[in-house]
Amino acid sequence: MKLSSSQKNLIGSIDETLADNEYKQHWHDWKWQMRHCIRDLDTFERYLGIELPAHERKAMQHSAERFPISVTPYYLSLINTDNLVNDPIFRQSIPSPLERSIHESEMEDPLHEEADSPVPGITHRYPDRVLFLISNMCAMYCRHCTRKRKVGDHDSIPARSEIEKGIEYIRETPQIRDVLLSGGDPFLLSDEQLDWIITELGKIEHVEVIRIGTRTPVVLPQRITDDLVSMLKRHHPIWINTHFNHPCEITNTSRRALAKLADAGIPLGNQSVLLAGVNDCPRIMRALVHKLVANRVRPYYLYQCDLSEGLSHFRTPVGKGIEILENLIGHTSGFCVPTYVIDAPGGGGKIPVMPNYLISWSTNKVVLRNYEGVITTYKEPDSYEPIFCDRKCDVCDLQLDLGDADESKATGIQMLLSDHDKTIALVPEGNERHTRRDD
Ligand SMILES: *Cc1c(COP(=O)(O)O)cnc(C)c1O
Repeated sequence: MKLSSSQKNLIGSIDETLADNEYKQHWHDWKWQMRHCIRDLDTFERYLGIELPAHERKAMQHSAERFPISVTPYYLSLINTDNLVNDPIFRQSIPSPLERSIHESEMEDPLHEEADSPVPGITHRYPDRVLFLISNMCAMYCRHCTRKRKVGDHDSIPARSEIEKGIEYIRETPQIRDVLLSGGDPFLLSDEQLDWIITELGKIEHVEVIRIGTRTPVVLPQRITDDLVSMLKRHHPIWINTHFNHPCEITNTSRRALAKLADAGIPLGNQSVLLAGVNDCPRIMRALVHKLVANRVRPYYLYQCDLSEGLSHFRTPVGKGIEILENLIGHTSGFCVPTYVIDAPGGGGKIPVMPNYLISWSTNKVVLRNYEGVITTYKEPDSYEPIFCDRKCDVCDLQLDLGDADESKATGIQMLLSDHDKTIALVPEGNERHTRRDD
């Protein structure tokens, strides 16, 4: 892979002693990239040969003291210095003066990841899957990080004993069929450490799939080495979700990293965050999802920016996300369209949000509108015989020939809709009317 002239200049200012033939080798070595992460504004200015405006610099420094900086030389090299302050890479990696203005509605841990944590590192929010934080390290500190509270805490790997406790919890909780490894970035662990964790999880019979959330294909694509990929390949089914936010992040180097992962049979997904001043534009999002699928990455989620501290300047109204979906659904391939979600503050989990397509309905017809604005009707069947489900699958005409058919308790709306559960209402805790009744 050839280096661009800006990458050559950059590597030259990082290490003036390098000989000409050493440039490429170092640049493509992820450990070299990590050793030379940019961690302060002075270095940032020196490497790019620029000067930040003096009046803003002080406030940026102030932000950096609260929420530290770390950017890989590779990711830094993608910044277009001709339009620095509007550059999407710059905005995601270098602190804004606005990070210090923390609003009343913002929280350290809006998603209550710690409250829903049975053992350190595990968040068990959904019935059948867990989030398992196995690394405190990141290749770069995203300014929009939802776990900003933890950024730069201590760049360390949780102790082996701590990870063992997480694995133990998963082993003892048979409902868990999907383990989502995240962090930090799991790919900042060594191949050996990662291999050990995945091997241990793979031995657990009820774990059907392992997912890895990593931003390395975006900010440190050099990490996707042949060794890493051949190790992962031995542990299928492995799924990977990465985190591209802007089409300019898809470079030849990142394309190659994605191709290696896809060639290893790993299904790839992408989770973007909707960020004001970065990608809050239907045309940018459309270009991004097209580039993603061209590289075998399926857009998975588009996140509404969380209520974490210091992110208010990144937040958009929810309407912006709906407008983006309105511009994608129908206008482009269905598999280009991510699910737009709001991760509910307080630990309610991800809530999908969509434009409305169902306009009205009667007893035998529904009225719908399509992406073009055409209003149409769908005539419902006259002779549908409802199936009463008491969960007795062995006497049902439908053929669910599964010995281990899921018998877990129905919850929420699913429970209200079911035939076998007699609950008729969900009542908020402490509802005054109900409290009076109990007296
Ligand atoms: C996002 C998330 C998951 C995975 O959710 P999916 O919708 O299955 O991708 C699991 N646990 C926690 C705590 C999460 O935040």
